[in-house]
Amino acid sequence: MNRDGKNRSLWQDWPAPYQPLNSGGCDYNKVYDALIVGGGITGLTTGVLLQEAGLDCLLAEARTIGFGTSLGTTAHLNTLMDTPYPLIEKRFGLSGARLVAKAGEKAIALVETFTAETAVACNFERKTAWLVAATAEERQRLDEIREASLRAGLTAYPVSDCPVKLPFLAGCCFEAQGQVNAGAYLCSLAQRFEESGGIILEHTLVDETERETDYHKVSTMEGVIKARRLIYATHIPPGVNQFSVLCAPYRSYAVAFTLADGHYPDGLAYDMKEPYNYFRTQRVGDRDYVIAGGFDHKCGHEENTENVFRQLEAMVRAYFNVSEIAYKWSSQYFEPADGLPYIGRYPGREETFVATGFSGNGFTFGTFSAILISELIMSGESEFESLFSPSRLKPLASAKNLVMENADVVAEWLAGFWKNDKISLLTELAPGDARVVEWEGKSLAIYKSETGKIYAVNAVCPHFGCKVSWNNTERSWDCPCHGSRFSFDGSLLTGPALSGLQGRDLDES
Ligand SMILES: Cc1cc2nc3c(=O)[nH]c(=O)nc-3n(C[C@H](O)[C@H](O)[C@H](O)COP(=O)(O)OP(=O)(O)OC[C@H]3O[C@@H](n4cnc5c(N)ncnc54)[C@H](O)[C@@H]3O)c2cc1C
Repeated sequence: MNRDGKNRSLWQDWPAPYQPLNSGGCDYNKVYDALIVGGGITGLTTGVLLQEAGLDCLLAEARTIGFGTSLGTTAHLNTLMDTPYPLIEKRFGLSGARLVAKAGEKAIALVETFTAETAVACNFERKTAWLVAATAEERQRLDEIREASLRAGLTAYPVSDCPVKLPFLAGCCFEAQGQVNAGAYLCSLAQRFEESGGIILEHTLVDETERETDYHKVSTMEGVIKARRLIYATHIPPGVNQFSVLCAPYRSYAVAFTLADGHYPDGLAYDMKEPYNYFRTQRVGDRDYVIAGGFDHKCGHEENTENVFRQLEAMVRAYFNVSEIAYKWSSQYFEPADGLPYIGRYPGREETFVATGFSGNGFTFGTFSAILISELIMSGESEFESLFSPSRLKPLASAKNLVMENADVVAEWLAGFWKNDKISLLTELAPGDARVVEWEGKSLAIYKSETGKIYAVNAVCPHFGCKVSWNNTERSWDCPCHGSRFSFDGSLLTGPALSGLQGRDLDES
């Protein structure tokens, strides 16, 4: 299974008994009941629920199943969310906090049910979570979180130790959390969707969409798909829209390692640093691994992402008797403006649904999105509708114009670059290195491969016109504004951009 970075995650190498296939292709003459865009946890779960409710569904994935963050997750399943319950209660009231807790419970229960019903070994387990304070200030926050969590209906109680030997002043346990093998579970969902008649189209980027009287016409490279309903399960909806502005892209880092002493912690553990670090054990095949993660930062804002892994590794070696660091990877998530995800009807668009802004809880909230969206589609209402409604935010006017204005000069400028002999400055790059260089007031993103081949692309993101930054560990160009990511050769990895960075191989000029 492939993902949107150079580093391999633990989930990519699990012993998979099943490979999702394009099950028969799309009938371009037919009007499908629903087109789900995106083949991560959100899209696959939504596909299963809608298909099993009797709808005729297509799922279009730009690359392959799990390519986005779902194969870069650490797959804790929580009712304990990144946005602390005191803040949720303050902003959305006690009833809102109770609904958030209930949303988490419903998501975990759905994963429990689905994993019990599949022959694929998904290693779902119910787990207790430990939240650990190391300072007096953290202790006070911990007490407030415990009290608000109790009011929200969770089971939480103080404890005097933790299965991970973190610096400890006080701790709190939260019952009834969960964990799963993300790769296995995604495959089981793809299999279940196809077995119930759903069609998965991999390598199908959804671009322009248009609404006819009672269906959407959706342009893809392969043809025009027709569907009554359109569901954006793309983590961040493609193109320029209000969500690009209200969801901030962050990267988080994870390692999976084996232990020399065999003392694998039983439970989920979190410290209270900002950003916080997270720990758990996962069995894959016949081996146990500790997964640890954290050191989050805004996408494109870290100069040397390899250094972040060094810090993470130093931290885990301080807490564990590490035998081997077997995997390290980083991935992306989106922080919503007000602390809760945007799930439901897409504002201003008929029969269109969206799920985004999950923070670091998107494996849980992605599962929950499927529940909420399928309730809205199948019964027209849900008790969760108004709390998570994407309409609680205001659309951003005229953003699209900005992008159009920005795009037109690019081709002309690049042509000029190659006519001039400025290429000598590229020889300063070491193999495997990359840099954004300024030339005649414009920015060029240049990468030299390990074999010395030069790739040069426009450094300006086609989505909103921000300048990309090099991510040296995942070998990608990352946009610091809205999180679009591009491969070293400029090809699109993840949106909201819908096209790659323009450019060409300098060897051809
Ligand atoms: C390091 C890390 C650890 C995390 N750990 C946890 C955790 O422990 N628990 C938890 O609950 N959450 C966690 N999260 C968050 C969670 O993993 C993600 O929010 C979640 O996986 C997102 O799932 P998704 O299906 O919405 O999006 P994705 O998995 O990103 O899938 C979206 C898919 O849509 C496709 N796509 C995009 N645009 C188009 C288009 N135009 N046409 C067709 N296809 C398109 C992409 O290729 C992609 O495959 C973590 C996040 C990170 C970064």
